[in-house]
Amino acid sequence: MNSFLQHNPTRLWFGEGQIRQLSSELGGIGKNVLIVYGGGSIKKNGVYDTVLNELHKADAHVFELSGVEPNPRLTTVKAGIELCRKEEIDLLLAVGGGSVIDCVKAISIGVYYEGDVWDVISRKGAPERALPFGTVLTLAATGSEMNNISVITDWEKNEKRGWGSPLVFPQFSILDPSYTYTVPRDQTVYGIVDIMSHALEQYFHRTENTPMIDRFIESLLITVMEAGKELVQDLHNFKLRETVMYAGTTAFNETLSNGTDGGDWGSHQIEHAVSAIYDIPHGGGLAILFPNWMSYCSEIDPSRMKKLAVNVFKISPEGKSELETAKEGIAALRSYWNSIGAPSRLADYEIDDSKLDQLVEKSFMKDEVGTYKVLNKEDVREILLRSM
Ligand code: NAP
Ligand code: FE
Repeated sequence: MNSFLQHNPTRLWFGEGQIRQLSSELGGIGKNVLIVYGGGSIKKNGVYDTVLNELHKADAHVFELSGVEPNPRLTTVKAGIELCRKEEIDLLLAVGGGSVIDCVKAISIGVYYEGDVWDVISRKGAPERALPFGTVLTLAATGSEMNNISVITDWEKNEKRGWGSPLVFPQFSILDPSYTYTVPRDQTVYGIVDIMSHALEQYFHRTENTPMIDRFIESLLITVMEAGKELVQDLHNFKLRETVMYAGTTAFNETLSNGTDGGDWGSHQIEHAVSAIYDIPHGGGLAILFPNWMSYCSEIDPSRMKKLAVNVFKISPEGKSELETAKEGIAALRSYWNSIGAPSRLADYEIDDSKLDQLVEKSFMKDEVGTYKVLNKEDVREILLRSM
């Protein structure tokens, strides 16, 4: 294992009815609170009314920013920064999925940053302060509710960038699984794929002697696959929603990377390029790309893919080469994602090779893609071609 510090400052309130904690989390009455949400799902399912009710109980002065896009955009971040400055907002409250939370993280850092917030997002600027924020999660997928990562798209430049700062852990997050009942089937599937992909990215590390972490990851994958299979047939099931929601948070809050090199994350980087150009759902892109990344990299070093095949997909290694076992495991993953209705080819989103060069170029927003296998442009091109 590597040396590490475990310190996640987010207070997580998990369970049915935990919204009642909101007023105490506001920490004093009379605050200016900006609630930030997406395209209106929270108005349809009643979460908006519930949150507003709690805010009024705490005598908060409530301001609103709505319309945060899935794959949130820089323009919305900037509108939020302006609003916070104008109304002297004390606390931001994200009510939604990962897109809303990621947008709020960028707003929170942008309010006190004197230059262009894109400098921070593109890892050039060093912010020193952020406006505090909390979240009310409505979709299990990204883990953004308990990590310090955010992903923002500059649609004019077709750049989608992940960034992070110790300043952007949520102060608190409220997770009520019943708020996710109304997540439609397709978004539920994208969420399951994203959660599994976060676990997989961290599984593909190169650190020795990590039996605890490896088994944590394997256990999370097995649990999500079991629950996910039933959930897509039974969207209004509390127990299944609860299992998947807790898995989503655990998959990306450092629990699965303590003591390792952090994992690969190359599939995420390539997916960001696809989303930046074609604006497809993140989980949909991952379902297509990840098995192709695995297959390509297993041809160079199948060791971790083989371990996954045996321990998670229960493939017998007997009488097979490491690569054969690895490939059977990858096929089992593909088949599981197909079985819950995830897409498997870029053609499913009508994406062909006409912008292949641009896709390769946009995959290199950070200098390097991947760590399990550091990919060069030819490698990324090949993975994209296999995904077409
Ligand atoms: P999302 O983009 O936040 O939401 C997707 C859709 O689900 C929206 O149309 C939203 O509608 C709807 N929705 C949300 N909650 C709902 C509910 N309870 N009932 C009905 N519909 C609901 O999805 P996401 O997968 O959570 O976030 C994706 C973004 O996060 C991508 O940009 C991805 O790159 C990023 N990401 C971030 C991290 C991180 O650590 N920060 C990790 C992985 C991915 P409304 O807009 O109407 O609410
Ligand atoms: Fe993700």
